[in-house]
Amino acid sequence: MYCPQCLVEYREGFTECSDCRVALLAGAPPEPTDSFDPTLDLVVVLETNDSMQLALAKGLLEDAGIPFYVLGQIATLVQGVDAFLHKWCRLQVPRDREAEARELVESLEQPATSDTGDAIGDTG
Ligand SMILES: [Zn+2]
Repeated sequence: MYCPQCLVEYREGFTECSDCRVALLAGAPPEPTDSFDPTLDLVVVLETNDSMQLALAKGLLEDAGIPFYVLGQIATLVQGVDAFLHKWCRLQVPRDREAEARELVESLEQPATSDTGDAIGDTG
């Protein structure tokens, strides 16, 4: 289920977007190509419903000077949001910064770094 207005995904059982008050549509939200600069080729580097992880990732990207876009904002403007209503957020970066961003984000997901020796050498 997702809101056609803000493209936030909802769990099954919801019929209306709590933010936009519009009926939800079934399935996954389409790629919101209209709302982004078409010259930018964006890739998702993080998908989470953990606002803390998202905040940490955004902080790292800011420090690194990497521009990013968040789809499906966690409702920070709406007061009294039910705690069980977890909204999934996608953190996107331009493709030319993808490698940098992934390194930063993966350091969040795997705090204990264990090098398996699987070298990835994609010079694109
Ligand atoms: Zn909505």
